[in-house]
Amino acid sequence: VLVPTLRPVATAQVAAQADPRVEQLLARMSLDDKVGQMTQVDRGALRSTSDLATYRIGAVLSGGGSAPATNTAQAWADMYDGFQRAATATPLGIPLIYGVDAVHGHNNVRGATIFPHNIGLGATRDPGLVERIGAATAEEVAGTGIDWNFAPCLCVARDDRWGRTYESFGEVPEIPTAMTSYIDGLQGATLGGTPSSVLATAKHFIGDGGTEGGDDQGDARIGEQELRSVHLPPFRAAVDRGVGSVMISYSSWNGVKAHGHRYLITDLLKTELGFTGFVVSDWAGIDQLDGATGFTGAEVAAAVNAGIDMVMVPTDYQRFTSLLKAEVQAGRVSTARIDDANRRILTKKFELGLFERPLTDRSLTSTVGSAAHRDLARQAVRQSQVLLRNDGVLPLRKSGKYFVAGKSADNIGYQSGGWTISWQGGSGNVTPGTTILQGIRDLVGSGASITHDRYGAGVDGSYTAAIAVVGETPYAEGQGDRPYGLGLDREDLETINRLRSAGIPVVVVLVSGRPMDIANQVGDWDALLAAWLPGTEGRGVADVLFGDYNPTGKLPVTWMNSGSQQPINVGDGKAALYPFGHGLSYGPTTTTSTTTTTTTTTSTTTTTAPPPGGCVATARVTSSWQGGFQADVTVTNTGTARLNGWTVTWAKSGDQTINSLWNGRLTQTGTSVSVDDVGWNGTLAPGASGSFGYTASGATSTPELTCRVR
Ligand code: BGC
Repeated sequence: VLVPTLRPVATAQVAAQADPRVEQLLARMSLDDKVGQMTQVDRGALRSTSDLATYRIGAVLSGGGSAPATNTAQAWADMYDGFQRAATATPLGIPLIYGVDAVHGHNNVRGATIFPHNIGLGATRDPGLVERIGAATAEEVAGTGIDWNFAPCLCVARDDRWGRTYESFGEVPEIPTAMTSYIDGLQGATLGGTPSSVLATAKHFIGDGGTEGGDDQGDARIGEQELRSVHLPPFRAAVDRGVGSVMISYSSWNGVKAHGHRYLITDLLKTELGFTGFVVSDWAGIDQLDGATGFTGAEVAAAVNAGIDMVMVPTDYQRFTSLLKAEVQAGRVSTARIDDANRRILTKKFELGLFERPLTDRSLTSTVGSAAHRDLARQAVRQSQVLLRNDGVLPLRKSGKYFVAGKSADNIGYQSGGWTISWQGGSGNVTPGTTILQGIRDLVGSGASITHDRYGAGVDGSYTAAIAVVGETPYAEGQGDRPYGLGLDREDLETINRLRSAGIPVVVVLVSGRPMDIANQVGDWDALLAAWLPGTEGRGVADVLFGDYNPTGKLPVTWMNSGSQQPINVGDGKAALYPFGHGLSYGPTTTTSTTTTTTTTTSTTTTTAPPPGGCVATARVTSSWQGGFQADVTVTNTGTARLNGWTVTWAKSGDQTINSLWNGRLTQTGTSVSVDDVGWNGTLAPGASGSFGYTASGATSTPELTCRVR
């Protein structure tokens, strides 16, 4: 049942395209032209711009953020246009396609808007917001000429020790699946339908987040059922939305590298899911097929025969093109396979409008870092904050005397994380933005006094409260794996202790790409806010701390109680410090009905009268689809005592099916549904709320809920 019948590779070839230009062009192309289209070169490896024409190179990238000497939007556009002019100065004039990793905004360009990394966006549970971020990113990317973004990462991160956990929207497939809305934002309603339409990449296919030990580029030792139920759904959704490209994962599946996996690439992705875009390798991914460094003709053939359409070589393009050509001439790679790869690539180039408009649309260049995009990023930061603990100190008053400390309080590089200006990220003013400290200062104005010292030196009992902004320093793939521990570093622990010794309330803001091992310290803190990696708009963190935004973020991952629990995920029975879906607010949220205009998200709220003893439950639809929806239910303690147990019940109609999505204890008897003591174990301080979520099929609107104190 689990292994579908293998179908002949021919069925995975794309049909002759509706656009006759693809076939006309293909008929005129030589083998050199076709091999060149399948070759992607890093700009830093190009020996001369004229090589683009000599080798008929079809694609270029800026790997690891490799930027022009002057890193401005203008300089990027000039660089792009130079390359494009060279590529099109050939007899057939085929434009190249240029890719970058704009994984949280156009993060390689100084001055661009940097959005929260995906883990923070997962906490928003807001696919409409993520679609708007995709559209804003597309404008900034297109404004520098670039056509193609190696995003979104649809990895389902199952082990927090993995250094790419922050590139994941969450540990369950439902969140990345919902966030494929980003693809619509990036590509537009139809690819090339607007000048800012940018080709998206669903990556990394498949199982990158499921490797043993959270090992980057490791081995996902899981059965096909788990591969299909946990790691495949976001890719299926991406294909259904028309994603233009898919990048293959460096990881292996049960010992076999994905880059040479014909079953995964050709049978599963292209044939079964019906993917008609093109498949790109990861950076030098084919080199790993035989375990030795560099690539051979056999590796080139294995990758292309497995179904890879374009190889991110990325350096020795001379050798790659000659090896691929030789493999075709020797009959080890069929011309049908080469033609299929070219059809797929050329179709996307035509759809993008590259043949008509090869050069940068300069009217978009001014959108890079625009005020409108920064406002959107600030809103994303607000929604991504997850309030994990609050003994009542938050929200802070806008008057008083505050002490701000911690290594990440005043550091744009740290709060932006990896993939910011440089591959591994940096420290300090790597790009313009508002630090969390500056955001606090801007928010309180002259109403409150703010003192800052990185180490907490000079703090004393005269302050209203202290805010410690601590956590992880930037990293990306290769350097981010933490097999031996996820605890705070010594500086952070010392800074927090210095603040605590003053005897004032201490609020900890954690800037990190994943949950950290803090169970032994958190009991001493008065509040804990997970800020993730918010990006350039630190004001959004201040908005939450001072109550200008009532926190709504929910954990997209399970928060470990100790490092030895890794991997820990919802539903595995391990006792978390904060369960998946946990996230506090400051009080009951308003009970209005709203309907947003996007097609994917509608939102309605149902409220019941608070029963005596004090709890109320409201449901809000966070996304919906034909015949079903996903809802968040918020339970609020409306009484005056701590709530130590509750049950939410509702009646279901007809043939509805309710699935508890975020770790609820769900009981269904006949038409009655009840959920109790989810997440935070049912305990809630007076005025506090917590929430759980569920999906329903066979239904279109949320039911009337009753919350009962037990
Ligand atoms: C990463 C990809 C990225 C590529 C190009 C690789 O090392 O795994 O996610 O798109 O580099 O920069």
